[in-house]
Amino acid sequence: MKSLYDMNYDQMQEFALEQGWKKFRGHQIFQWLYRNRVTDIDEMSNLSKETRDRLKAEFVISPLQLRDKQVAKDGTTKFLFALEDGALIESVLMLFDYGKSVCVTSQVGCNMGCAFCASGLTKKQRNLTSGEMVAQVLYIQRELDQQGDRVSHIVVMGTGEPFDNYEEVMNFLATVNHDRGLGIGARHITISTCGIVPRILEFSKEHTQYNLAVSLHAPNDELRNRLMPINHAYPLAELMEALDQYGSENNRRLTFEYILLKGINDQPVHAKQLAKLIGKRNAYINLIPYNAVDENGFQGVDHASAMVFYDQLMKLGVRCTIRKEHGGDIDAACGQLRVKHLQKR
Ligand code: SAH
Repeated sequence: MKSLYDMNYDQMQEFALEQGWKKFRGHQIFQWLYRNRVTDIDEMSNLSKETRDRLKAEFVISPLQLRDKQVAKDGTTKFLFALEDGALIESVLMLFDYGKSVCVTSQVGCNMGCAFCASGLTKKQRNLTSGEMVAQVLYIQRELDQQGDRVSHIVVMGTGEPFDNYEEVMNFLATVNHDRGLGIGARHITISTCGIVPRILEFSKEHTQYNLAVSLHAPNDELRNRLMPINHAYPLAELMEALDQYGSENNRRLTFEYILLKGINDQPVHAKQLAKLIGKRNAYINLIPYNAVDENGFQGVDHASAMVFYDQLMKLGVRCTIRKEHGGDIDAACGQLRVKHLQKR
């Protein structure tokens, strides 16, 4: 069955009109979903029984079922959900001093095949619908409701390549960003891509205020080809050109993600190449402590070595930060909890 979360605000109103209802019905349903955050269509008490039955015949509210939950010492919480077809996905709640952020999964499995990533251990089975992404945030929001708290930030950094599921991801973000949806500010939303150039160009033209993060992980084509197969299709020169296009059309600062992999991309020469590659762009590099994935043999660096790399970059005039590690004591790396469950099956 379809999920009511699949429709954004405008689509919900159009849907109401198509049913021969007043447009306002669409508004009311949206209110029940995102303000009252009901889980059962029968709770929509200002709709007639007939209207509710009509909805129930075609829709569910949430297409997710919780299968597992892990809470780390720092409060990072990982949720494993089953979708209606039994596929498993993960979402993560992270606590920051500036708010609560949810890391959303955009695909079941992933086809990008990055060498270091747990998500790529299983090929893409399908794209998630926008409703399945909305449902991840709503599930966690309902838990936070019990503490009078809210999801303030979203990162589309779970399993999957969001720009390989562009329409659904943009529809999902429209709903959570909408005033009458969850009202999460566009500047509090980040989409992370491995660098699918045509979609970066399309995204540039949308002029949203969402943040764009690009997984770089290597400062030259030779190394990036080895770590990230997408680089064969869109090598660094093309990627940078697309990002410059984005920069000239949107006055937004870019984030580059760079996982530090011991002995692979963490040497002084890599810092120099990175500085040259980034140049004077309005960008900063987010250095990411690597969450070891048992299956693929890469190792992360310790904090002291990360600091050395950080200092080298700063001296070369590149702005950077070291990402704080979250949930180190649980299966926190992208896709790890899911892979563990799939192996058990
Ligand atoms: N496909 C998108 C978004 C999902 S991955 C992308 O590539 O950006 C989100 C981020 O986590 C990416 O930067 C990815 O490279 C990184 N990542 C993947 N595996 C990781 C691991 N084991 N430890 C730390 N970061 C990882």
